[in-house]
Amino acid sequence: MRNPNNAPAFCKSDFEFGKLLGRGAVGRVWLVREKRLGRILALKCMRKRDILRYSSPAVLRRELCVHSTLRHRNVLRLYNWFSDSDNIYLLLEYAPGGDLFALHRPVSEPRARKLVAQTVEALAFCHSRGIAHRDLKLENILLGADGNVRLADFGWSAKDTQRRTTLCGTLDYLAPELATQKPHTRAVDAWALGVLAFELLVGRAPFTAPGRKETLQRITACTYTIPQSVSPLARQFLSSLLQTDPAKRMSLADARRHPWILKPSDSIQSKENSSPKD
Ligand code: ATP
Ligand code: MG
Repeated sequence: MRNPNNAPAFCKSDFEFGKLLGRGAVGRVWLVREKRLGRILALKCMRKRDILRYSSPAVLRRELCVHSTLRHRNVLRLYNWFSDSDNIYLLLEYAPGGDLFALHRPVSEPRARKLVAQTVEALAFCHSRGIAHRDLKLENILLGADGNVRLADFGWSAKDTQRRTTLCGTLDYLAPELATQKPHTRAVDAWALGVLAFELLVGRAPFTAPGRKETLQRITACTYTIPQSVSPLARQFLSSLLQTDPAKRMSLADARRHPWILKPSDSIQSKENSSPKD
């Protein structure tokens, strides 16, 4: 497998391994120190055996090609990759703040607004490059050294010039068109953004039911209730995203301009999300 820049290949012994940062369906992610330069990085290790069981080399190749081209302050950097006989390794920016799943939820409305606004920026950037993420969820949003959002895990991402029919993503976040296996577009990310914002504001996912079938029914019928504790503007934001018909669903461009996102306290937050390096 080629690395992004044809740079000299790495091998596992080039790194000192620290703590396990997390694990997903196919990957374990370790904190590592590059011995030569002393850089602190995250190394995502995936067994080739597991890639074949849960995913495919084609899916992985797509993840790497897509992710390595994305440069945005709210998108986790993929620096390089290499492989040995058993594993494939991704060299990633280390996000010391961990993932949003670890947050105690619900979070305050200003905090939720900041996290959602930065996620919108990351997704809008991906969409501007013709890429749908398709696996937005709390576990795939990390917090960087500056405390700002880093969108991660492009394992299900796709160039969405055409309408697609592949079933992908996580049950709680599945858009109705995916749940009913209809063709879908990048509008699935806007739905997932609504689920994510709901989880942050309310502390639970909107459609979760005891069984898979019932959850799917709630998704397709768009049955959910927003507690009174959520402000009217935030409720309006959620209900504009959680629209069954993708054509009526708020676009990311409109989400960026939504009054809930643009509330005055965000002037401080947008400053927090910019740095001279950007
Ligand atoms: P999934 O089950 O979503 O397919 P995966 O196998 O693709 O997961 P990731 O989502 O990339 O794996 O990573 C799993 C977990 O590891 C994340 O939820 C996060 O907690 C942690 N993690 C991943 N990358 C980093 C990083 N760069 N810095 C810090 N923690 C990370
Ligand atoms: Mg993940």
